[in-house]
This record gives sequence, structure tokens and C-alpha cells, in this order.
Amino acid sequence: MSFDRLLLFLFPALCGVFAVFLALNTYGLIETRSDFEENHRLEWFSFREAIRLNTSDFEDFFSRYTTRSGHGEGQLPKLGGKSVQATLENLPSREFSTVLDRSNLFQNWVAAPVAAMNGNTAAFYALDALLPVDRAVVLPETVAAALQNIAEMTTREADTRAETARRSFQIRQGMQTGLALATIASALGWVVLLLSRNSALRKECQDRMEDTDRLLHIQSHDPLTGLFNQKEFSARLRRTYQQLSEGQVLNVVSINLDAKSPKTAEYCQSIENAILVSAADILRHAAGVAVGAVCLARANGKGFLAYFTTSETEDPAAHDLVMRIRRGFQHPVATDRGAFLLPPAIGIANTETVDKDPAELIRNADLAAYEALANPLARPVTYQPSMRAALDRTISIEQALPDAIENGEFLPYYQPQFNLMSGRIVGVEALARWNHADLGWISPSEFIPLAENSGDIVPIGWQILERACREILKLPGDLTLSLNLSVSQLLDEDVVFMLEDCLERTGLPASRLKIEVTETTVMSDRAQIQTTLSSVRSLGIALVLDDFGMGFSELSCLTDFHWDLIKIDGAFATRATSDDKIRDILKLVLGIAAKMGSEVLVEGIETVDQCDVLADLGCANGQGYLFGGPMAIDDIKTLFFQGHRHPDLKEA
Ligand code: C2E
Ligand code: MG
Ligand code: MG
Repeated sequence: MSFDRLLLFLFPALCGVFAVFLALNTYGLIETRSDFEENHRLEWFSFREAIRLNTSDFEDFFSRYTTRSGHGEGQLPKLGGKSVQATLENLPSREFSTVLDRSNLFQNWVAAPVAAMNGNTAAFYALDALLPVDRAVVLPETVAAALQNIAEMTTREADTRAETARRSFQIRQGMQTGLALATIASALGWVVLLLSRNSALRKECQDRMEDTDRLLHIQSHDPLTGLFNQKEFSARLRRTYQQLSEGQVLNVVSINLDAKSPKTAEYCQSIENAILVSAADILRHAAGVAVGAVCLARANGKGFLAYFTTSETEDPAAHDLVMRIRRGFQHPVATDRGAFLLPPAIGIANTETVDKDPAELIRNADLAAYEALANPLARPVTYQPSMRAALDRTISIEQALPDAIENGEFLPYYQPQFNLMSGRIVGVEALARWNHADLGWISPSEFIPLAENSGDIVPIGWQILERACREILKLPGDLTLSLNLSVSQLLDEDVVFMLEDCLERTGLPASRLKIEVTETTVMSDRAQIQTTLSSVRSLGIALVLDDFGMGFSELSCLTDFHWDLIKIDGAFATRATSDDKIRDILKLVLGIAAKMGSEVLVEGIETVDQCDVLADLGCANGQGYLFGGPMAIDDIKTLFFQGHRHPDLKEA
């Protein structure tokens, strides 16, 4: 047991013990006091009686007798003697005797004078017969001495007793004071201890409450930005949703910085943290000046969330807040590693499109923000139910991918490629197709990006390659086969071996295989892809730069690699007929390609006009719906190889 606790029990115990003694002493004090008072009264009484115990009357009578002797005055000393005798006889019955009754003193002191008196009674009575004076004189002296003795003894005894009683009363009083002080002191000690303990407990309680507050703050806040975390945001959103009044609209804004974050931030945590802290400040500022309360939170990942209520769907306040957020991010976000421009993808959702679950608001706003990512001007996007349907489809596709790979559901379709000068089919491009049992035909533009994301593109790519290599051999002649390879396939360290192995197993000559890669693929990991492509080319496989001119083409992409064929994006075919500048650019690209020893093919040729213009410009090869879209190998055979004769475009 600690000393503190010991004191806690010791003080009340002491207080109790002292209080008991105090009570007992009080009882004793009352007793002593009455004893003292009684003795005091007796002392006083004894004193008073002692004064009265004299022989003055007797002496008086006696002197009158002696002076008037012989004149028949003998009656007077007799009377005086009787008076003294009566006094002495009455002594035992009087209160005076109580002083003496506890001892034998009474017997000793009073009996003697009484006896003396009694012994002389005859003498008193004989006074009538003229008692001789010398004998009579002895009487008053003896009696006086005896009475004097009684008085002295009695007063002394009374005094002693009174003194004893007074002393014990004083002792009791002293004890009373001491015990009272001790009781008060221990009670005070207890009270002080209780008070100090109480205040310590209060402080402890306060500390605990502060600890709890701190814990709650940690639980509900993001430690980096100080904003609410998503869990707390969701809980508050739910409460606000439940308290919405008629006509009120709850808006959720999702601010996504993920896609626009600088690449370095992905590798340097301090930069990412600095960006998030600055972004939180921008949001705080925007929300601070907004009308009405805005609840801000750091979302999971690199995003933020905000919610606020408005009176109608198209409330200008909502629009105002979103614009303020956008404006806040128009300036570069400063960090200790430089400033970064981070236009956020902003998605907005409100209760108009939510049924019951407020958590759906966050999902909808996130979805809208995800849509906004694709929007080059970073315009805020408001959630539409069609987005959910598209997402559901995407999820279904993603989930169906592994089974489809397992079941070999992917098959190649072939789009013919023509020589624009001769009009003859020179090759085909294998394009993946997927006919899902429930979802129907799924376009590669839909499933290829998803498969690239999940890594499923690698097995899909090899399945298409294997099948295409076998199927092309079913066609007569020596048509080339173009195959699209994605980044993941090219980064796969087995890529060269897989290609070689496939050619070996299928028996397709390497010279008939062309590998198409896009600029973005090349740029994703330039050094490694350059090495891989060189190895692929050394197998005798031709390299094709796909979709040239579609994005922000870099000339270095043309010069740093040896492309056997450059495929010009379909947009050029469309615009070549009406736009001189496009035609000039095409001439320039054709010139560069010729210098580099690369062939050229234009994709997406849909009209005869486009075909003529491109042929006039000197484009040797073309591909597009004008000649035929992607189709099954049997259709290629039927359409272009009936009678083993190469169809002539000009004839068609
Ligand atoms: P791409 O390699 O540029 O393929 C050409 C795309 O343009 C094909 O779309 C084709 O159907 C379409 N096309 C052909 N002629 C015309 C035309 O005259 N007008 C228009 N507007 N379009 C035309 P598809 O089959 O939907 O493929 C889309 C993209 O998917 C391909 O673009 C390619 O990048 C990718 N892809 C397709 N199959 C595979 C594959 O097996 N592996 C990989 N990695 N990617 C593939
Ligand atoms: Mg292609
Ligand atoms: Mg293309």
C-alpha cells in the first residue's frame, strides 16, 4: 500500500480514536467538574462553618458568669456550655461532617471535644452551685482549642480535597483541549489530504479527458494535413444527410491530385507530403471564404473531400466553391523541392442522384473526379448516373478477364493493309476481339487498357500472337502479319524468347511478322524498350511505329529507333483532303521516312478521296474501312483470296 493511501486511512482512524477519547474525557470532565464544584462548595462551606465553630458565645456567657458570680448568674455559662455541646453534637449530622466522613478524622477530631464537654457537663450544671473559677476557666480554653482544631483540620481537609478536585479538573481540561486539538488536527489533516487527493484526481481526470480528446483527434484527423480523415468525414456526412431538411441538397466534392502529381513525388515522400500540406491549405482557404460551413477531409490516397449543403441543386454557392478551389490550384504549389502546378481533377455529386446511402455520394464524386481526369482542361465534372453504369461495366470486364484468358476467349480479327499504288493486299493487322457470354462484343479500346492495368495484357497478347501466327499461314501468299505489343509485354524479359519460340513453333518466317508499338509505349521506358526492340529486330521481325502524329510526337522517337514502317494516325487521312497544312506535314513525314529508310502506311482511310489524296502525296500503303475493317481470318480468305487470286483494289 502506498504512503498516500496509508495516510488516507491513518487520518480518519486517528480522528476516530481521538474523538472516542475526547468523548470519554468529556464524560470524565463532567464528572470531575461536579466533583470539583462539590468540593469547592464544601471548601467554602467548611470555611464558613469553621468560622462559626467558635466558643465566643460560651466565652461570652462564661465571662458574664465570672463577672457576675454570686449573683445567681450560673445559668449563663450553662447555657453557653449547652450551646457548644449542641454545636458539637450537631456536627456529625451536618453537612460539615461530609468533609470528614470519608476518613476517621471526624471520630478523632470531634469525639475528643465532645467527650471533653461531656466530661464537664456536671461542672456546667454545677455552675449554679458556684463552680470554682479555676476549673471553669479550663472549660472554654479546652473547648476553644478543640473547636479551633476541628475548624483548622476541616478547612485544611476541604482545601486539600478542593485542590485535588481542581487539579484533576484542570488535568481533564488540559486533556480535553489536547484531545480536541488532536481530533481537529487529524480531521484537518484528513480534509487537507482529501482535498489534495481530490484536486490530484481532478487533474488526473482532466489529463485523462485531454488524452481522450487527443486520441479522438488522432482517430478522426489526418496527421499530415490536420484535416478530418475519410472515416470521420463519412461519419459526419452521414449525420448531415440524416438531418437534411426538405429542399436541402447535400453536395460532395472530390478533389483528386493523383494523376497530376509530379513523378518525383512518387519516389520522394517529403515532396508528396509537402504537396498535400500545401493543397490542404489551398482548400482551407477556399472553404474558409465560402458561404456556409464546408467540411474538408483528406481522402484515402492523394485526394481530398469536401461537403456542404445548399438550398437547391444549381446553387451558385456550390459553383462558387468549386471555382475557388480550381483558382487556388492555378498557382504552383511550393515545396522545398520546387513548385509544382497541380490542376486537380474535381468531381461533384449531390443528393439528387443518391437513393439512401450517403456513402454513395463519396463514390459518385470520386467517379466524377475520375472522369474529370480524362478531361484535358481539368473542368470539374458533375456525377451522372451513366458514369456508374460505365463503371459497373468496367468492373464486370475487369472481373471477367482472368476467366476469359483461362478459356482462351480472345481471338484475333484481321484488318487488311493495301499497297495504294498497286492496289494489292500486302498484309493484315491482328486486332484482339472478345465476345463475352453476357457482355457481348467488347471493344479492345475498352478491355486492352484494363488488361494493361492489371497485367493481363501479357497472356492475352501471347494468345493473340500464337493464334494469329497459325491463322495467317492458312492464307495463300506471303502476307505480312502486324501485331500490337503493349508496354508490359515489351518490358517482359521473356519477350524476345516468346517471339522466337512462337515463330519456331508456328513456322511463320520472322520476315512476315511486324510488331507495332506506339510512341507512348516507347517513351514509357525508353532505354529498356530500345534494347528490347533492337533484339526483336535482330530476329528479323520488322518494327512499326503505330499511331504516329496522334499525340505530342517527338522527332527523337523517329530518329532514335530504326522503324521499318511508320503508321500515320487516321486523323491525318481525315484532314488531308481539306487541310493544306496537313498535306505539307504529311509530305515532310514522308521525306523523313524515306531518308530513314522506313516505309509509310496511313491508317483510317475511309473514303476514295482520302485514298487518292494520300496516294498522290506518295503514301505507299493504307489501311481503313475503305478497304475493309477487322474481320475473321475466313472472311479475309473469302473476300481477298477466292481462287487464290490477289484482289486488285482498282478492280474492286
Ligand atoms: P490500332 O493498333 O491503331 O488499331 C487500329 C484501330 O483503328 C482498330 O480499332 C481498328 O478497328 C480501327 N480502324 C481501322 N480502320 C479504321 C477506319 O477507317 N476508321 C476508324 N475510325 N477506325 C478504323 P480496334 O480494333 O478497336 O483497336 C483499337 C486499339 O486497340 C488498336 O489501335 C490497338 O492499339 C489496340 N489493340 C487492338 N488489338 C490489340 C492487341 O492484340 N494487343 C494490343 N496490345 N493492343 C491491341
Ligand atoms: Mg495498331
Ligand atoms: Mg493505329
